[in-house]
Parts: sequence; structure tokens; C-alpha cells
Amino acid sequence: MKLRRKVVVIGGGFAGLGVTRALASSSVHVTLIDRSNHHLFQPLLYQVAMAGLSPGEIAVPIRAVLSRQANAKVLLADVVGVDLDGRHVLTREMPPIAYDYLVVAAGAANSYFGRDDWAEAAPGLKDLDDAVEIRRRVLLAFEAAERETDAAVQRRHLTFVVIGGGPTGVELAGAIAELATVVLSRDFRAIESDATRVVLVEGGDRILPNLHPELSDLAAANLRAMGVEVRTHLRVTDIDADGVTCGNERITASTVLWAAGVRGSPLCQSIGLEVDRQGRAQVLADCSVPGRPEVFVVGDAAAFVPAGEERALPGVSPVAMQQGRFVARQISRSINGESRETFSYIDKGSMATIGRKRAVAQFRGMRLSGFLAWLAWLFVHVFYLIDFRNRIVVLLDWTWAYFAYRRGSRLITGRRLYAGAPVPASPRAFTEPALVPPAPQPPPPPLRFSAATSAPSIPSVRPLAPPMSAPPPPSSRAPRSG
Ligand SMILES: Cc1cc2nc3c(=O)[nH]c(=O)nc-3n(C[C@H](O)[C@H](O)[C@H](O)COP(=O)(O)OP(=O)(O)OC[C@H]3O[C@@H](n4cnc5c(N)ncnc54)[C@H](O)[C@@H]3O)c2cc1C
Repeated sequence: MKLRRKVVVIGGGFAGLGVTRALASSSVHVTLIDRSNHHLFQPLLYQVAMAGLSPGEIAVPIRAVLSRQANAKVLLADVVGVDLDGRHVLTREMPPIAYDYLVVAAGAANSYFGRDDWAEAAPGLKDLDDAVEIRRRVLLAFEAAERETDAAVQRRHLTFVVIGGGPTGVELAGAIAELATVVLSRDFRAIESDATRVVLVEGGDRILPNLHPELSDLAAANLRAMGVEVRTHLRVTDIDADGVTCGNERITASTVLWAAGVRGSPLCQSIGLEVDRQGRAQVLADCSVPGRPEVFVVGDAAAFVPAGEERALPGVSPVAMQQGRFVARQISRSINGESRETFSYIDKGSMATIGRKRAVAQFRGMRLSGFLAWLAWLFVHVFYLIDFRNRIVVLLDWTWAYFAYRRGSRLITGRRLYAGAPVPASPRAFTEPALVPPAPQPPPPPLRFSAATSAPSIPSVRPLAPPMSAPPPPSSRAPRSG
């Protein structure tokens, strides 16, 4: 009897799920390992962060997605290393897992360009925990402003700085402005509807730098019309609990959000793969890594540079999905003794939303803006990208939630406040140990196996990448494609 090959996929995002599902009818065993139990629709993450949608509306258990795929097994585990020579994946929780083919689809992490100490004061938006934490900070800032009698302190609570003028920064800034004017102005009594200040800080000369300049200008004009201060040519030099310093300028704010940079999953570097300046694994034309045809890296974790081009493909979901399906095909071809193909990306265009009814988009030379572009965004991102639930149901569900601003999405969760505890002066004070007595920290769990040849250094559950060798200035992410 022919032995089935073992394929191990690290990550259940767009790329990892893409590989796994495309292998459904192949005679292989697929083990998908993810440290979270859900597949997340990141394009709508900012809506959770801005209290427009609830976490459950944009995520689904990976196990449920793959429940009918007989050849796929899902493991909830944190991958801490890979023994590339011995072909084993090393997790924190289990004995080594053997593979014949490995697909690293571990995505990306926030990058603070060597200033990881800014992360506490300026959280980035990468997963559901980040989104819920940002939502908590934003809603608590409004609560603190409602209680405040000192006008200067109230102003600080109502000032929100978003760093990075890429799509995520633009979406966050627009959404905070809308949250303040459309929703919260109804619910609060001591906050004037125009008292909220939203500042979008971009180091370059325009926001959405990867879109046509005309669309950047339109997006900036739209944001300004919504009350957002769009500040370009402004480089952040420091961030602390009370605001942001940009050279000689100080912006005092209770809430600072980071949308200025991402880097490839730290796993790539820690397992010894060759990475580019942004920490993404360098891959060949078939998405495998040099010298190891059995190891592929796909999606945000990979730096795939198309032939004849200088820049790697952007970190967007269509790249991840297409690479996922492509690699599944290459695995089947290898098993059948056929030669590998070259990955070629079909660009679906780029777009960014500005609030609930506006967007800018470009598709192959065609430029769209306003409501039409927003409709295009809705169909491309919501309808086309979703394949984990019934598309029509998801579309209706999200559209309703999107316009109705469900109240449940505005619940503040994540920190327990004891009855009778002193009310902190600023939302950030909620994180201080005085309010919530710290529980004794257990030592990190020991590994239950001896690490093989390329012994992994065991990082924390969400390891922060080492500083980039030459820190580039904060600038925005590449725009997303549809
Ligand atoms: C806020 C935001 C908005 C975005 N908006 C858009 C948009 O509008 N359009 C668009 O096309 N793209 C958008 N993107 C980018 C898009 O979401 C990514 O390109 C896409 O998710 C990449 O897919 P992936 O599978 O490579 O990685 P991910 O989807 O990030 O999946 C990686 C998976 O790996 C798991 N993982 C990581 N490390 C480990 C480990 N050590 N052990 C086990 N599991 C691990 C993670 O838990 C995760 O499930 C956005 C991204 C963000 C953050």
C-alpha cells in the first residue's frame, strides 16, 4: 500500500487555509497547526477595534472550517521551531511533528522599527486580541472624558493619534471620527460632538502612497471632511503614555494607535530561513525556500519577488490565497513526479475604505472613489474573499451590523474592575497593577521533548521580532488588493 505523504501547515490564515483546502482531494495527510483556534478576516479587524462589529462576526473556528475535510487535522499549538534537517515541527505543547512537506503560513507581526518599547503605548492591529484591546482603550477614553471636569484633561482623552497613513491607518482614523460623530455623540452628555480630535500622522508626503496620487488626495480630502487632521511629512520620534512627539511638536493624547509597519512572522528568522529587511522569508519562483524544496513559505510571511521586478508582492489576502492554492498544486505535482511551476500573481487591484460609505480603489488603471468604490470594496473584500461561511448570510449579517452599529459591539471587556476600586484618572491607568492585583506568574512550561538539531530558542507566545538592522522611518503598509 502506498504511504500517504504528511503535509504540515503552520498557520490557519488565508494562506494556510488555502493550502489545506486545496489539498482536500489529494492523497496526503494534512496537519494544520495554529496557535489561535480561529481563522480571522483581518480586513474587517478595524471594525472590531472601532466597535462596529463583534469579534465573532469576523472570525470562525478553523476546526469548523475543516470539519468536513477528512484528510485534514487541526492542532491548536504554538510552533516554536522547525528541525529542517530532521523534518519535524516543534511546538510548545506536543512532541515533534514529522512532515514530508512543510508550508509556513504564519503571517506577519507589527513592526516598531526597533522601538518595541512603543508597543504598550501605541498598540498595533493584527489580531482579535489587539482589536479588543484597542476598542477597550478607545471606549474608555470616551468614558474618562465624560467624567472629566477639567477641559484640558478632557481634550487629552478625546484626542486620538493614529500613526501610519496606509490603509489600516486611514481606516482607523476614519472610523474613530465616525464613531465619535455618528454614534457616541448620542450616548454621552458631557462631550460635544465636535470635541473629538483625530490626528493621522504619516512620515511620507502623502497617505496611501501606493495608490495613484489623485486617490491619495481624494482620501485625504474625505478624511478632512470627516474632521480628521491629516498630517504628512511628520515623523514620530517618541511615543509615551501621554501622547506623541514628532520632532519639536508634541501631540498630547490618551490614545495612540500604531499602523505604521508590519514585518514577516518572527518564526521565519528563528527557524533559520533567509529573510529580507522586513523579516519575510526569501522564496523561489515555486514559493519554496532555497535549498529545501520540501519547505514552502506563503502569504505575509514570504517575500516573493516576481521575475523582472524589484519589490516583493504586497502583504494582502489575495496574494496569500493564491499562493496557498498554488503550493497545494506544487505538492501534488511533486508527489506525482511532475516538475514545479512558477507562481504568478493575478492582481485584483488596490483599495482602502474611508468610513462607512466611502473608499478609494484602483483596478488596472481604472480609478474609483466615493460610494461606488466602497461598494466595490464591499463586494471584493466581503463577498469574494469570504469562503468560510455562507457568503449571502455573511454579506447580509455584516451589512446589517455595519450600518446598525450594534450596541453589543461597544461593550468594554478585557479588564476586571473591582467594585469600590478607585476610578483611574486615565484609561491607561487601568493597566496599572495597583488596580488589579497581579497574579503570581508561573514559570514558562518546559518543553516535553528534546529539541533536535536546529534547536529552537523558545520565544514567548507572541514573540517580538529583533530590531531590524537598519531601521527605516515609520511609513505605511502597502495598500491592499481586492
Ligand atoms: C488590520 C488589517 C487590515 C487588512 N486589510 C486588508 C484588506 O482590506 N485587503 C487585503 O487584501 N488584505 C488586508 N490585510 C492583509 C491580509 O489580512 C493579510 O495579507 C493576510 O491575512 C495574510 O494571510 P496569511 O495567511 O499569510 O497570514 P494570517 O492571515 O495573518 O495568518 C497567519 C496565521 O498563522 C498563525 N500563527 C502565526 N505564528 C504562529 C506560530 N508560531 N504557531 C502557530 N500559529 C501561528 C496565526 O495565529 C494566524 O492564524 C489586512 C491586514 C490587517 C492586519
